[in-house]
Amino acid sequence: MTAQPLQVLVLEDTEADRLFVQDALVGGSAFQFDVRFADTVAELIAKARQVPPDVALIDLCVPDSAGLPTWRAVSAGIPGTPIVVQSGLQDEELAIQALGEGAQDYLVKGRFSHSQLVRALRFAVQRHTTEAALRLTQQRYQLAAEGSNDGIWDWDLHCGELWLSPRWTAIVGLPQDALRDDPAGWMALVHPDDVDGFAAAIMAHSDGLSSHLEHEHRMRHADGQWRWVLCRGLATRDDQGRAVRMAGSLTDATARKQAEERLLHDALHDRLTGLANRVLCLDRIALALSRARRSPERRFAVLFLDLDRFKLVNDSLGHLAGDALLVEMADRLRLTVRPSDTVARMGGDEFCVVLEDIGGPTAAMRIAERIQAALAAPVALAGTEVVVTASIGIALHDPAHQRPEDLIRDADMAMYRAKEGGKARHKVSDSGLHLMAVEQLELETDLRRSVARGELGVVFQPIVALATGHVVGVEALARWQHPQRGAVAPDKFIAFAEETGLIVELGRHLIDRTLSLFAAFERAHPDRRGQLRVAVNLSPRQFWEPDLVSELLDTMHRHEFAPQRLVLEITESALMRDWRQAAAMLDPLRKLGVRVHLDDFGTGYSSLSQLQRLPLDTLKIDRSFVTGLGDRLADLEIVRAVATMAHTLGKTVVAEGIEQPGQYEAVRALGIQEAQGWLFGKPVSALHDIAVTWTQRSEQAGRLPAGPRRTAPVVVAGAALHAG
Ligand code: C2E
Ligand code: MG
Ligand code: MG
Repeated sequence: MTAQPLQVLVLEDTEADRLFVQDALVGGSAFQFDVRFADTVAELIAKARQVPPDVALIDLCVPDSAGLPTWRAVSAGIPGTPIVVQSGLQDEELAIQALGEGAQDYLVKGRFSHSQLVRALRFAVQRHTTEAALRLTQQRYQLAAEGSNDGIWDWDLHCGELWLSPRWTAIVGLPQDALRDDPAGWMALVHPDDVDGFAAAIMAHSDGLSSHLEHEHRMRHADGQWRWVLCRGLATRDDQGRAVRMAGSLTDATARKQAEERLLHDALHDRLTGLANRVLCLDRIALALSRARRSPERRFAVLFLDLDRFKLVNDSLGHLAGDALLVEMADRLRLTVRPSDTVARMGGDEFCVVLEDIGGPTAAMRIAERIQAALAAPVALAGTEVVVTASIGIALHDPAHQRPEDLIRDADMAMYRAKEGGKARHKVSDSGLHLMAVEQLELETDLRRSVARGELGVVFQPIVALATGHVVGVEALARWQHPQRGAVAPDKFIAFAEETGLIVELGRHLIDRTLSLFAAFERAHPDRRGQLRVAVNLSPRQFWEPDLVSELLDTMHRHEFAPQRLVLEITESALMRDWRQAAAMLDPLRKLGVRVHLDDFGTGYSSLSQLQRLPLDTLKIDRSFVTGLGDRLADLEIVRAVATMAHTLGKTVVAEGIEQPGQYEAVRALGIQEAQGWLFGKPVSALHDIAVTWTQRSEQAGRLPAGPRRTAPVVVAGAALHAG
C-alpha cells in the first residue's frame, strides 16, 4: 500500500530558496511530498483553506510580514497545522521564540541539507499527531475527573510533590491549592482514630504487601464536620520494585455510610419507641456474658417486664393511644436506668432491661422497684388519665447461663410468676438454683465423706433456769469444719442432709458423740455428774426412722446415760405428720423419762387442740419472737399468749435466742421457766467451759442477777446479765 503524499505548503518568496525546497522534497526524497508555494501570508492562508496542508514551512521574512508577527499570523490562520520555521542566521533568536509559542521545529537557511529538511517536516507531522493524541487523552481525563464525583490525587513519594484535583479538595471543603505538595497536611485532616490505619494501608501497598490501596476513613471538612471518604490508589515502582509514586481517587462516602448506619440502626431498634430490639438486646446480653466470663465479679442482671392490662388500654382507647403509652413507658424506662444499661422492646408490651455491673439480687430488686414506681405514675391518654403497672421478672447472671436466651427465659419465667402473684410485682428468678444445685452436689459429696469419717463436731449451748439462774442443761448443735470452706453453719447443711437422707447417719453419729463426750466429762469431774440435761435435735427424717427408739436406747445404754437427762428437740412439722403414731412411738421413751421439746415453736401451724394431744413436755419459743421482745409489743403479746397457753396445758416454756438483758427481763417477767441465748453463752465445744469455767467466773464476779440467788454449783452469769 502506497502512502498518501504529504501535503506541504511553503511560505517563501525567494526563488533560490524555493528551488532548494523543491529539489529536497520532490527530487531526491524517497518519500512522497506534494509541495505548493505562497509568496505572502495572505496567499498561504488562502491556499491552506483550499487544500489543508499536513505541514507548513514558513520563512519569517516575506513581502507582507516580517519576524515573529509572520509566525503568529500563520499559526492563527492555519490552526491545527504543524509549522516548521525557517530563519536567517541573524534572526535565529526569533525562530527559537516561535518554537516557544508552538512551532514544531526551526531551520536556519543555508545550514541544512535536503535530508535534514525532509526529516524536519516528517518529524513535525509525526510529533504533531502524537501531541494531538496526547491532548485528546488529557482532555478525556480532565473531563472524566471534572465530571466524576471522585477527587484525584497524585503523590510523588520521592520528592513529596502532591497534586490534588479540585474535586478532591472540594470534598473536604478546601480551595484547590490548599494542600499542594503537602502530604502531611492531608494526613492532618484524617480522623485521629483512623490515621494509623490509613498510614498502615499506604505503607502496606508501598511495600508491595497489597495489590492496591483501599481505605475508608473519616476526614475533617472545613465546616468542622467529619466526612467519610474512600481512598483508592495504585503505586508505580522502580526496577527494584520500590514505590516511587502513588495516585488514585478519593470518594465522598458520607451519604453511603449514613445510609448504612441508618439501616443498621433500623435493623437493631424498635421503630415505635426507638429502643433496642430483641436482636440488639440478645447481642448486649452476649457481650455481658463474655465480660462476666472474663471477670466473674462483673455480675449483671436481666429484667423482663410486661405491662399489666395493656390490652385493656389498646382495646378501650384505641391503637394510637396504645402506641403513645408504649412510647411514654419506653421514655420512662430509659430515664430510670443508667445510660450504660440496655433498654429493649421485645415486642408488644414486653420490655427487657440489661443491668450491667449489678451487686446482687437486692440491687436488681431495688432497680425493679424504681422502674415500677416510674411506670406507675399516671399517663394522660386520649383525654383521660391512665395508670399502668408492670410485672417484672429478674434473672441474675450465674455460670449456668451459657447463652443470652437462657437469661431471657429465666427472667421471662420469673415475670410470669410475678404476674401470677398478683401483677405489679417483681420476682427474682431462682435460676440461681442451677448454681446452688451444683454447689449443693459438691457439698453433699463432701458432707457424705465427712460423715463417713466421723468428722462432724458438736458444740454445746447452755440452757438456764430463769428462776435460779442455774444452768440446767445444754443443747448439742452440729458443727462441720469443711476442709476448704471452713466452718459450715448447720442451716447450710442440715436441710439438704435431710433431703438426701444423710441426716440419719449424721444424727446417729452426733448423738453418739454427744453422749460419749458427756461420759468423758463426768468421769473427769465426778462432782458434776448427773447435773445437766442434754438436748439433741431430731429432724423429721431422723424422727421417723424406724429404728430411732431402739437406737437411742442402745446409745444411752452404751454410755451409761440416764434417760431422764435426755431431751429430744423435735419440730412441729415432724410431729404433725402423724401425731398419733408419733405419740405411740415416743411413749416408751417418755415412760423411761426422756423429755420431748417442741423446737422453733410459733413457726408452724399447730392449733391449741393439737398441742394438747401432742406427746411433749416443753415448747421452745422460736428466736424470731424473742428478738422483738422489748420493742415490739406484738411480739411480747405473742410470747405472753404462748406462755399462758403452755402453762394452761401444763407444759413448760423455753425461750430461745436471748441476746439482750431486756429480753431476759421480759421472758422472766412472763413466768417462762428456761431460756437459751448468747446472753448466757454461745455454743462452745468444751463442756468444761459451760459447767466449770463460767461458774467460777460468775462467782468471782460476786454479782447476782436482779432475780434469784444462785447457790447451785453450776451457774451461768455473763457480765451482761447483771447489767440489766
Ligand atoms: P435450733 O435447734 O433452733 O438451735 C438454735 C440455734 O440458734 C443454733 O444455731 C444456735 O447457735 C442459735 N442461737 C442460740 N442462741 C442464739 C442467740 O442468742 N442469737 C442468735 N442469733 N442465735 C442463737 P445453729 O447451731 O446454727 O443451728 C441451727 C439449726 O440447725 C438448729 O436450730 C437446728 O434446727 C439445726 N441443727 C443443729 N444441729 C443439729 C443436729 O445435730 N441435728 C439436727 N437434726 N439439726 C441440727
Ligand atoms: Mg434445737
Ligand atoms: Mg430452735
